[in-house]
Amino acid sequence: MKVVALAGGVGGAKLADGLARVLKPAELTIIVNTGDDFSHFGLRICPDLDTVCYTLAGMANPQTGWGRKDETWNVMEHLREIGAPTWFNLGDRDLATHLERTRRLAQGERLSEITRQFCDLWGIQCSVMPMSDDQMETWVETMEAGWIPFQEYFVLHRCELKVKGFEFRGREKARPAPGVMDAIQKADSIIVCPSNPWVSITPIVEVPGIMEEITRSDAIRIAVSPIIQGKTIKGPAAKMYAEMGIQPSATTVARHYSSWIHGFVMDVLDQQERDDVMRLGVEVLLTDTIMTDVEKRVELAQAVLEFSEKLSREIVKS
Ligand code: GDP
Repeated sequence: MKVVALAGGVGGAKLADGLARVLKPAELTIIVNTGDDFSHFGLRICPDLDTVCYTLAGMANPQTGWGRKDETWNVMEHLREIGAPTWFNLGDRDLATHLERTRRLAQGERLSEITRQFCDLWGIQCSVMPMSDDQMETWVETMEAGWIPFQEYFVLHRCELKVKGFEFRGREKARPAPGVMDAIQKADSIIVCPSNPWVSITPIVEVPGIMEEITRSDAIRIAVSPIIQGKTIKGPAAKMYAEMGIQPSATTVARHYSSWIHGFVMDVLDQQERDDVMRLGVEVLLTDTIMTDVEKRVELAQAVLEFSEKLSREIVKS
């Protein structure tokens, strides 16, 4: 079974890790959002790509979900001492990733190629690829500060500003990274991880050509809800819906994707919304979706894959 997972950072990485533990390496391709990428101290930082890779390599910080475990913070301490901006946390080990990636990018290497080599070195066997090698940056329109780059909204302002909308700058010139379209064409199943629909999944499918390829493919397309009981486990997705005048719920997420998914996985805690989602013309799997440990990641991955196989059999029959 060939599976493509679309992932952002923390929520996406957890399900991606579950899928990587269930599937054979050649069966899984993870396409990662790079709309959050930015340059800081002259370094190219790719937060979602790094979160996915650190998680798959068993190197992620289990407390935060981002950054590396057993991290030290010497550089940050010294930056603070000399009055440098310290709003974005950069651990010493994590900095090594950004330094080497930036050095290679400056030599003309592609982000997808650098990512593949990091994965090889870190023992990650499935394919992990950025959505694009081109820069396509998520900007957030806020009530208080107008248009600002995503990391300023997310980290500097701690998501406190009110959101009015989003823009993906550089979109017109962005092309899918090598391997992305091929993986989508060959997929039996495309799984939208429980990531932020606005700023983790939308940028991926907005890369010119990707949505067309997804909807052209014969793959079963399934999304997993990042919103449970109207709230996120972490991050601003629910707050973003509310600020744009949309009540946050699992049904809202299902509606967000309903034009292109066949199935929706929502938490058992939201079972009263099941019929509302079914009315959108989407099949529903109710299951425990809160991935508190590795076993839960594996259980959810297995449940999603079985759901995909069931939908595939039903679609073939009808
Ligand atoms: P970010 O780029 O680091 O914010 O990461 P993502 O966009 O991938 O993930 C953020 C989303 O993941 C939030 O909306 C969370 O609610 C969701 N999330 C995190 N952990 C879990 C989990 O265990 N289960 C589910 N269903 N969603 C989760």
